[in-house]
Amino acid sequence: MTRSLFCFFILFLTGTCAEAQTPHISGNVFISLKDGTLRADLEVSGLPTANRYFLRLNTGMAIRFLRDSTNTFNYSLQRACDTGKSAESCEYWLPAPDGKGRYLPGRFRISYVGAFPVHDDPALRSERGDWKGNIAFNGQTIRATEQSVWYPVILDPEEGRAYTDVTYDLTFHTPGAKAHYLNGSAPQYGPEVRFQTTTPYPLMLFAGDFDFKKERNTWLVNTTFTAGQALVVDGWFTKFRKYYEEHLQIPYGTDITLLASTPVSKRNNWMFVTYPTIASVSPDNWLNTLVDEKTMTISDSARLSFLAHELGHYYFGSVFRPNSTLHWAFLEGMTEYMSLLAVRDLVGKSYYDRQISQYVEASRKLTSFVPLGRISNTNEVNHTYRYQYIPLLMTALEQEFGQERIWQWLSGVLHTSGAKTDYVFFRESLLNSGIDPNAFKAFEERFLTSSNSLQDLLALFPAENSR
Ligand SMILES: [Zn+2]
Repeated sequence: MTRSLFCFFILFLTGTCAEAQTPHISGNVFISLKDGTLRADLEVSGLPTANRYFLRLNTGMAIRFLRDSTNTFNYSLQRACDTGKSAESCEYWLPAPDGKGRYLPGRFRISYVGAFPVHDDPALRSERGDWKGNIAFNGQTIRATEQSVWYPVILDPEEGRAYTDVTYDLTFHTPGAKAHYLNGSAPQYGPEVRFQTTTPYPLMLFAGDFDFKKERNTWLVNTTFTAGQALVVDGWFTKFRKYYEEHLQIPYGTDITLLASTPVSKRNNWMFVTYPTIASVSPDNWLNTLVDEKTMTISDSARLSFLAHELGHYYFGSVFRPNSTLHWAFLEGMTEYMSLLAVRDLVGKSYYDRQISQYVEASRKLTSFVPLGRISNTNEVNHTYRYQYIPLLMTALEQEFGQERIWQWLSGVLHTSGAKTDYVFFRESLLNSGIDPNAFKAFEERFLTSSNSLQDLLALFPAENSR
């Protein structure tokens, strides 16, 4: 099917053709690990020439020019930095011909440079102050994710959508760097390397002094795993991936990269996912303690649950990108529910039971609870709601309609494109998966719209000592 014909079908189904657009970024990036600078000379293409787009770039970057694609003239850029909208980036646009709206050409050249602190002396680091959106130079490496907006990210303000995933043909020039890793490609050794892909990915960059290796289906970047430990990690990754593939009937995407790095502060210690990278940022090398060296097992079963959850984000996060009022319910809630099932079937029922009890305990403490069918604001699905209440609600749904039907529904959701993931979508997609409408109506009245729905749900899960 040609792109335009495909576009027509998408347009017919969803009323928008945005799905067909993927930005492409090509050019050169020059990094100094010693001085903390990043300079980029890029060409950005693959954008619709519509009036509503603008671009974002990290606040630390100064733009030399934004130039037309034939290299003839510079555009006159407008800039606004609103920390309420983004702590990491400013937005840029050209005034539309009518003087009112915004405009960006569908293809342009851009050159910019930024300078960032190099935290090379551990004694002089702050207690905290590192985060996923930081462009982090620690003296040995640079770490920069899509959240830092180190590359131009196109925004569609009408859809509230950031085009963080791009295809690329980028060459990095980093004097003294032993290796480079760019999300979506295999890591490469050398101070000068070129990465190319025709599959879109969010650009997480890691370059500098590190080693890497591949253990079957898993890339290990900057980890100190022994061969035996690497095998244990890859073994679990493979088990979880296969489990999801079998139940959702959708092949798991590309190979996972596990990346270890250190913060540029003393105490920040966290993990993040920029699919297909799962990264640890830890002053005490957390990732490398994942597998107990003596027993050669994952040292804590809670970590298995965590890994199952992160791997599940390939489906809810990469294959399917939730939005609208139930954004968090679909993104985190469904991923947590799938990881709960994976843990039950691959790790053990006792761990599953413990997990359910934790969800119940946490959900009991929910305040200002709004039933799912009445959610009107995405923030009403708070942390406990999305990570603990939703998996519990899904468990009730599973008890009512059967596990197989729920997997079918989840698979159907993942096959949908361009949907607005609100309650109407939740309801319609469930009914489309073939569940009995009358039985659903009864479930809906009791657990999805009633003001007593939280209490009724919790009543399905009696306290542990009475089970
Ligand atoms: Zn998550």
